[in-house]
Amino acid sequence: MSHFNYSIESYNLNKTYNKNNKIEIKALIDFNLKIPKGSIYGLLGPNGAGKSTFINILGGLVKKDSGKIKICGVDIDKSIKECKKKIGIVPQELNMDPFFTPIELLELQAGLYGVKKKNRKSEEILKNVGLLDQKNAYARTLSGGMRRRLLVAKALVHNPEIIILDEPTAGVDVELRKNLWNYIKNLNSMGTTICLTTHYLEEAENLCDHITIINNGKIIRSDTKKNLLNLIGKKTVSFILEDNFQIPSALNKFNPELVDNKLLVNYDKKMTQLKEIIQILNNNKVNFNEINTYESDLEDVFINLIKNNDK
Ligand code: ADP
Ligand code: MG
Repeated sequence: MSHFNYSIESYNLNKTYNKNNKIEIKALIDFNLKIPKGSIYGLLGPNGAGKSTFINILGGLVKKDSGKIKICGVDIDKSIKECKKKIGIVPQELNMDPFFTPIELLELQAGLYGVKKKNRKSEEILKNVGLLDQKNAYARTLSGGMRRRLLVAKALVHNPEIIILDEPTAGVDVELRKNLWNYIKNLNSMGTTICLTTHYLEEAENLCDHITIINNGKIIRSDTKKNLLNLIGKKTVSFILEDNFQIPSALNKFNPELVDNKLLVNYDKKMTQLKEIIQILNNNKVNFNEINTYESDLEDVFINLIKNNDK
């Protein structure tokens, strides 16, 4: 019974935009995704990858061409209303009516979602996002960071099971970014499933427990952060050898390569320390006069995966 385990499921989702009725842009191609209940799930990809298209299809703002989507086990084509109640979307753009105050905006939103007056928690939500002091200020007087938080607050009024954030910290300063991360983690720890898009590797690495890397409308890799980080735990060290151009057999487990006088050794930085490798060289009287290390991080893997995908 898959719907007990997944908050969002997407099967063979396709979306093509027609630009001027001429050029077709394939924004999503056979997009298959399962977002486990209770996770913080990141859709990571460069601009134009198709992230917002996916989010907007979930929110009913963009119409899919084909494929199936389930929200908490419910097919959105069968009950869009029920699905909309389960998700709260924080859009990428900071557009909001400048003449409403935060408290008015939340009350309006609650009305739209049919939340009864006695069940509304507008003040509590504003307090949680740190906007209680501004509750009666016109939205146009709020800073970018405050507007961002107001959008988060708006998405929370109907107490959704899933919060979807489209580039929550794009153009946001470092301190506010950390605050938002903490807030998102908090929401998650209280049981809300989080799905967010980002083009910041650091954000995906800090926040998400599952990451799907997408490019040109296609899923390149979906995995837990842990597995992705293991993929990137590889480190390479190079030694320029002085003489004795040979590879000690004790290094064989590190897939060593000798190119002329340059010895390359690959190791997993979580398992092996550089000094172990140096020790082996010393023990075998292999002298070197230069040493360089190369560390691959999420960015390397990301660039690599995307490069291979573009070919
Ligand atoms: P992302 O959010 O990852 O930056 P988008 O989903 O916004 O990506 O866009 C995916 C692709 O679809 C891009 O090539 C973009 O130019 C195109 N696109 C998005 N929205 C439209 C639209 N309304 N009309 C035509 N093309 C669009
Ligand atoms: Mg986008």
